[in-house]
Amino acid sequence: MQGSVTSFSADYSEARRRFRDAAAALGWQLESVPVDVTGPDGSELTIDVACSPLQPPDKVLVISSGVHGVEGFFGSAVQTALLEHWAANNSAAPQIRCVFLHAVNPFGFAYRRRFDENNVDQNRNFLLPYESFAGAPPGYAELDPLLNPRLPSLSRNRLAIRFLRLLGRHGPAGLRQAVAGGQYDFPRGLFFGGATASKSQLLLAQHLPRWLAHSTHVCHLDLHTGLGRSGQCRLLVDYPPTALQHQWLTDWFGAGSFESTSTGGISYEVRGSFGRWCMARDLAPNYLFAFAEFGTYPPLRLLAALRTENQLFHWAAADAAALEQARMQLTELYCPKSPRWRAQVITHAMLLAEQAQRGLLQADRPAQI
Ligand SMILES: [Zn+2]
Repeated sequence: MQGSVTSFSADYSEARRRFRDAAAALGWQLESVPVDVTGPDGSELTIDVACSPLQPPDKVLVISSGVHGVEGFFGSAVQTALLEHWAANNSAAPQIRCVFLHAVNPFGFAYRRRFDENNVDQNRNFLLPYESFAGAPPGYAELDPLLNPRLPSLSRNRLAIRFLRLLGRHGPAGLRQAVAGGQYDFPRGLFFGGATASKSQLLLAQHLPRWLAHSTHVCHLDLHTGLGRSGQCRLLVDYPPTALQHQWLTDWFGAGSFESTSTGGISYEVRGSFGRWCMARDLAPNYLFAFAEFGTYPPLRLLAALRTENQLFHWAAADAAALEQARMQLTELYCPKSPRWRAQVITHAMLLAEQAQRGLLQADRPAQI
């Protein structure tokens, strides 16, 4: 299955329209769930959900996009590429039920930022009922002036020098954890997990049980960009997989294709992750969740661009030209324009969807003797 670069859109509205058109062409059921915020053009922002009509609904492939707003340019392109591929090749159409969640953070997608309208990093907001929206990783408070300046400061090179010094003190894993693990004390800071459950979380809590009703085996791939080497994909699992989950990951996607946050690698432990929350909700007896992360640019470039956009968003909104520049930069860093990168990641993501389907179809079949 060859990935096409034509499924990428120029903005959220186009991405939404193309996703909906492609799902409708396949006869999938569509729902639009408003998040009570408007986009740059004044239109209502929505999470859009497409469900294939296939019955029985016991085995379900869930693919979600745009939890980190601007990463939705990539995630939406994957979803649309799959839908368009299936519409064009009847024989390739999925043999299991599919539920596609488009733009879980539509504000971030529409305004080309990682965070939502309340500056919430959605993938830090999904705390479990007994967890509180408070605290910050050790070291974040000390880093706050560097990460979240009120005035534009430090070129990328000078920022790199400051971070090199910090690396010496914290080590790579410690610094990554301090910066990006998720904090609840600095509402205008980077990687803020929120003060309460986000609108997206509340809506998913309300509707997911219905979209996944009667499911027994769910494989949920949540699409992200920005971690790892350019164009490379890693599946990240931020919970200790059970023996069965480990076997599925190995059998379906390959032994070297995934890592769990506890084993190191490119990932780090985050509080309030979407995956852990889905796993805890008893949506299906067997629920396999993985973040599908596709690399783009080096981490410090991404961090510098996030920092610049966040500074302008909160403290210099009147500087429209600089903010626009920062948004364009962020879009490139999370969804590179390179045709080679785009073809590579679409091909790989479509393969993941195919592997997940095949795996789900085989699940629970008695082993061949
Ligand atoms: Zn992400």
